[in-house]
Amino acid sequence: MRNLNIAFITPEAVPYAKTGGLADVSGILPRTLAMMGHNVKLIMPKYRRIKEGRLDPELSIVCPVGKGEFRGEIYRIKENKLPFEVLLIGNNRFFDRDSLYLDPETGLDYTDNDERFIFFSRAALEVQKRLGWKPDIIHCNDWQSALIPAYLKTIFKDDPVLGGAKAIFTIHNLAFQGQFPAEVYEKIGLAESFFNPTGPFEYWGKVNFLKSALYFADHITTVSPTYAKEIQSTSDYGMGLEGVLRDRAAKVTGILNGADYTTWSPRIDKLIPHHYFPANLSGKKSNKLALLHRAGMPVRVDSPLFGMISRLDNQKGFDLIVEIMDKMMAIDLQFILLGTGDKEYHGFFEKMREKYPDKFKPYLEFDNALAHLIEAGADIFLMPSRYEPCGLNQMYSLRYGTVPLVRRTGGLADTVEDFDEATHKGTGFVFEEYTPKALLSAIMRAAEVFRKKRVWYKIAKAGMEQDFSWTKSAARYSELYQAVADK
Ligand code: ADP
Repeated sequence: MRNLNIAFITPEAVPYAKTGGLADVSGILPRTLAMMGHNVKLIMPKYRRIKEGRLDPELSIVCPVGKGEFRGEIYRIKENKLPFEVLLIGNNRFFDRDSLYLDPETGLDYTDNDERFIFFSRAALEVQKRLGWKPDIIHCNDWQSALIPAYLKTIFKDDPVLGGAKAIFTIHNLAFQGQFPAEVYEKIGLAESFFNPTGPFEYWGKVNFLKSALYFADHITTVSPTYAKEIQSTSDYGMGLEGVLRDRAAKVTGILNGADYTTWSPRIDKLIPHHYFPANLSGKKSNKLALLHRAGMPVRVDSPLFGMISRLDNQKGFDLIVEIMDKMMAIDLQFILLGTGDKEYHGFFEKMREKYPDKFKPYLEFDNALAHLIEAGADIFLMPSRYEPCGLNQMYSLRYGTVPLVRRTGGLADTVEDFDEATHKGTGFVFEEYTPKALLSAIMRAAEVFRKKRVWYKIAKAGMEQDFSWTKSAARYSELYQAVADK
């Protein structure tokens, strides 16, 4: 393996800022690549909540956005033992805010998200130029850094520092494309012709940041093999970009995300009261008691406890849950939900809390420690997604012996094996059709099997023994980087 210079550019990364799975991936993949010997710089915005990092007074850059020019202050975080550093791009106007993408006052996207991420994309390149650090690979993630391949192949094409770099673009969720009205195009600062009908940036008269990355990147990846196929197959999955993706099929690869077992493992998890391992699940039972106690719910050890941790969004199957909630509550089970998002779902679950106080407890907030306790304390993890690029919680659940109940889509299909009554093989419960009926019958099936203690232990143990560690996934990225760099 040849060691490469890799710039990993992302709008969020654990432990600095997180709204979803992208932050988990960005927190661990670049570090794992550095452990393999690559030289890695993680580049992200310095949001208000990030307190780490030292301002490097020698490093500031100026980037155009439309007709204006904006200064970026660079903060550095060095990690002692690894060839790894974090570069945070600060600009008070764009990033000194409480939230990452959504305006807390309106619940909608900040109205200047176009300018914020034009600036960030431009700055992420300028900082490397300023450092004179020549990347072999620039790995961009999601729409917030999707302009980078276009900038790299145009403005910086012959640049002595950046000109030789190859761009890789990863789709973590195709539902977020960075679409803006036509007038935003001129702020990007590229040739008008790229916005001609059917051009790289044009999408039904609008500007589409993500679409441009599909044109300009040297390679495109997404976060599971099944999702890579799905997004090329139908408009439901491809969200209007299925044709563009099909045109580039030879350059689209699915690489399954890994799970970070240094933080998500019941043997060592610092955020749960009782540790446990496959050979002895008594600690798991104690966690269930702790969780029920915290939720103020009656202890019913023989009833399955369903857990769910999720953005409250249609993607995650909440329209199905709303439909079946009363029927689900008629079954002998309990259900604890942790999530934030869509206001309508907040309202619905508040009502359900009052209606079923002994059986249902919603926590409508973001709470990482509670997420760990739910993974450790629940018996069954619910993830009935309409689509799921990869999904992390089902992988965490497997490791915690919390049997996942999922729909067969994307990364869920690639990680959970349906339990087979005849052979007693399988790691979870998988249903096909995106319908309330199919979800309800999977819940009933799981609740039934839960009563057979020995069979249940076998399923949980099979799940705990699965290995979705990052080592494998990072090795696949590393191979891909080498192949793309050598082209
Ligand atoms: P997505 O990125 O689509 O939201 P993933 O399953 O890939 O879904 O990742 C979600 C991540 O965010 C997981 O680490 C999950 O535990 C975490 N998460 C989601 N909602 C919450 C919440 N309300 N509180 C704590 N963690 C949450």
